[in-house]
Formats: sequence, C-alpha cells, structure tokens
Amino acid sequence: MLHSDQIKAEAKRLGFYAAGIAPAAPLDEEYARRYKAWLAGGHQADMAWIENNLEKRLNPCLLVEGAQTIVSVALGYYLPDSQAGGAVSLARYARGRDYHDVMRERLKALMAALGLQDYVDGRIFCDTAPIDERYWAKQCGLGWPGRSGQFIIPGAGTYFFLGELVLIHPADHYDQPTTGRCGECRRCIDACPTGALMGDGTLDARRCLSYLTIEHRGELPIGTGSKMGSCFYGCDRCAEACPWNRFAPATAEKDFQPKTQLKQMTATNWQSLTIEDYRRLFKGSAVKRAGFEGLTRNIQALHTAEDNEE
Ligand code: SF4
Ligand code: SF4
Repeated sequence: MLHSDQIKAEAKRLGFYAAGIAPAAPLDEEYARRYKAWLAGGHQADMAWIENNLEKRLNPCLLVEGAQTIVSVALGYYLPDSQAGGAVSLARYARGRDYHDVMRERLKALMAALGLQDYVDGRIFCDTAPIDERYWAKQCGLGWPGRSGQFIIPGAGTYFFLGELVLIHPADHYDQPTTGRCGECRRCIDACPTGALMGDGTLDARRCLSYLTIEHRGELPIGTGSKMGSCFYGCDRCAEACPWNRFAPATAEKDFQPKTQLKQMTATNWQSLTIEDYRRLFKGSAVKRAGFEGLTRNIQALHTAEDNEE
C-alpha cells in the first residue's frame, strides 16, 4: 500500500512544486471522444507519435500491466527574463538543461525514496510515452488544462514540466480531480499571433509556432517569421498572456538556469551561429530537437521579417 502523505512529502523534498495521486483507469469517454475527433481533424500535424499507441494513451493500464495508481508531479522552470539574458530568444522551457533528463532523474529519486523500483513496481514517464499528462495532472488535483492547452496550477501558472509514476500498488488516499477555472477569459486566444488556439482548450499544431519552429522539417510557411516576435525556438505568447502566470514562482533548479555563454548571445551572434557554436551552446539541451538546420532556418526567418519591416 502506498502512503499518499509520504509520496507528497518526498516529492516536495525533491523539489517538485506539486504532487497528486489518482486511481489508474481508462480516460473518461467524453474526453476520449474529443481526443479522437482532434486527431481525425489532423490538428496534430505530422507528429505521428501522438497518434501511435492510441489505445495505451486512452488507458494507462495497457501501458503498465496491473497499474493501480498514478502519481502526477510538477517541476517549475520559470525564471525572470532579467536572469535569462540572450536566452530570451528561446521559449522559456528550453533555456536550461533538457527537462526530460532532469525530470527522469528526479522521478527515479522519488521512486527510490519510496522504496520502489522502475519496471518492478511500475514505471516513470516524462513526455516520452503515450500518456496524457495533462489529463492525469487534472485527475490528481494539480490544476487544469487551460484554454491555451497548457496546464495551469492555481496560484502558480503554467511554467511547469509534468511527470508521472504509474504504479501497480494501491494508495491509501486519492485526490479529487480539479475543476477548470479559465471562466470567461480568452487572453491566450487573443494573444496568439497565428490563430492556433481553437477556443476549446485544443490547438491546431499546423498553425502553432511551437510546432513550426521545433518539430516541422523543411521550409516554414510564408509569413511565419513576421509572427515570431523575438523568439526563434518555440513560443511563449499564450503563456505570457495568461493571468495565472503573474504568480509564477521562480525556479530554484540550477539545471534550468541558462548557460553563461547562452546568456551572452546577441542578435548578431545568433545570425552568424556556426555548427560549433550550436553544439557548444546546446549540449544536453532540448533545443537539439530542432537540429542546426531547423534553428538557423528560424533565425533566418526572423531576421528576414525584421529586414522587411524596416
Ligand atoms: S505557442 Fe504561440 S503560436 Fe502556439 S498557440 Fe501559443 S501563442 Fe499561439
Ligand atoms: S489566458 Fe485565460 S483562458 Fe487562457 S489559459 Fe490562461 S486563464 Fe485560461
């Protein structure tokens, strides 16, 4: 039997901002129906992994045999721009060390602190398997997926990575799911420069700058550069508009601090980025996902748009 209070106390000791616990079960039918409709509309663009293993995504008990309990945790990454320097050209989540690595290490530490073993007592997940992390964070009482599609922790905002333990043991207490509190607010939708947010908490990845500047290969659609603002890797516009982020707590995680060389980059340095600079700046960083070609394509698109505006 897992002890809910112990799980939360250990999670807090390890630096997680929040932790919650829910019984493992198939996702509710209405949610699954809307998810399938979103896929059928092609809104996932060419991110095939979102479609793959759909049955497991809709039922974590197929992902981990005998699953009984899901623990959802949140790790904060917000840093004020004054501490990020030249790294402000990258979306906030990508300015430090690759969060997959940080989260994986921390979840392993949580398992160990609870006397549990990965692949024996369950499994750890961090954006690496077909598990709907925002759905489970809501079921675990951490907050709710906002109209922006980003997960909101009340009183703390959206600048959090989510991770999960899917465990084969029952817990002595489960949290209640949270009710959404976006109300009548539509600030994220109004702030989106590409009209990617569909108003129901989903987005059309084909229009989203986060998808286009990170996942998309090949040429960017015409006009993308003029919508990118000052950010050439990802986009934080909907997050910045969200009123809950006024309360974002600064992270104490050293791993999420940008490297000194990254902070010193200027617009001119970015425009003349070499493959050696790229390797040095982004060793161990999530930015490598775009590749050197993708990143320089984005920088060029931004630069060209700026020239056209002058
Ligand atoms: S990340 Fe940017 S482009 Fe994507 S939905 Fe948010 S504001 Fe729109
Ligand atoms: S900006 Fe408003 S509508 Fe959008 S996620 Fe935040 S609270 Fe919800």
